[in-house]
Amino acid sequence: MEEISIGTALSREPGTVRGRLKVADFPDGTPMEIPVVIVRGSRPGKTLWLHGCVHGNEYCGTFIIHELLRALAPDEMAGSVVALPVLNVSAFHKNQRMSPFELYGGGDLNRCFPGQQDGSLTQQIAFHVYRHLKQYADCLVDFHTAMTPDVRWALYAAFPGEVGAAGEAIARAFGFHSTLAAAPDILGGSAMMAAAKDGIPGFIVEAGGKGPAFARATVVDAAERLRNVMRHLGILSGEVRSYGKIANFARFAWVTAPRGGLFQPSVRCGDTLDEGTVLGHYFDVYGAPTGEALSPHAGTVLAIHPGPLMGNGETLVHIGLEARES
Ligand SMILES: [Zn+2]
Repeated sequence: MEEISIGTALSREPGTVRGRLKVADFPDGTPMEIPVVIVRGSRPGKTLWLHGCVHGNEYCGTFIIHELLRALAPDEMAGSVVALPVLNVSAFHKNQRMSPFELYGGGDLNRCFPGQQDGSLTQQIAFHVYRHLKQYADCLVDFHTAMTPDVRWALYAAFPGEVGAAGEAIARAFGFHSTLAAAPDILGGSAMMAAAKDGIPGFIVEAGGKGPAFARATVVDAAERLRNVMRHLGILSGEVRSYGKIANFARFAWVTAPRGGLFQPSVRCGDTLDEGTVLGHYFDVYGAPTGEALSPHAGTVLAIHPGPLMGNGETLVHIGLEARES
């Protein structure tokens, strides 16, 4: 069996190993290290790579990975799971999206893959993670959140040929109805797109909201769907469950708020929109209604601003467009 060696985590035989991967340095000289878990099955097979907290305040994914890992038994597995539940660890500590030490470039780790060894802090983190991902992963699942607890959608790298077909099959095994076929020319620098370019099918799960805005039920449900992905990949035995059709959106739209104010949404994730559907209501500081937010598109709500405060130009709604149910 191929050895899997990531930082101090070294897996040579069936079982679970834990370790740390150094990705950078803190200003005080202590190493910036991230946790690594490798669960190797008793029989050979594919390697599923999972990571969370690419954005440091998206903790739901970390909990989903933990939930899955707790239930894995190496003697029931053919293949391996490599899990890095917290990639952007300095942002994770601060409950924020990007690293507090990334001062110049903006530092969105989801735009920095495959990384650069002598680049910005965040590019260096991406580099140290990605070289292992490229070496070992047969499939990547990357966990993110949006703004509210009811977020549940997914996207796969819809590249032509085998990688895209494999990504779609994995998306179906995960089975969130709201699923986007992400074209190769969008989301550049995400781990998913970098991996797809290297022939590794990738899949992003958007589940729950940032910070504490997620529910235990979402964690348990997503972990079960991951087990279905593992059955699909042959890492776990048993029949692959069908979750039914997926929407397979061709595109999405980020709609920003042209104005600010107190805001209360009136739609939820998964709701169907027509052009002109009322998305929410604005109020002034005296409590008087000051207007409605209207949807500029027909589609499905992937994410909605939770209020109560809307700043000018914030993301009001994220809409999946042109669903092709199949
Ligand atoms: Zn994210």
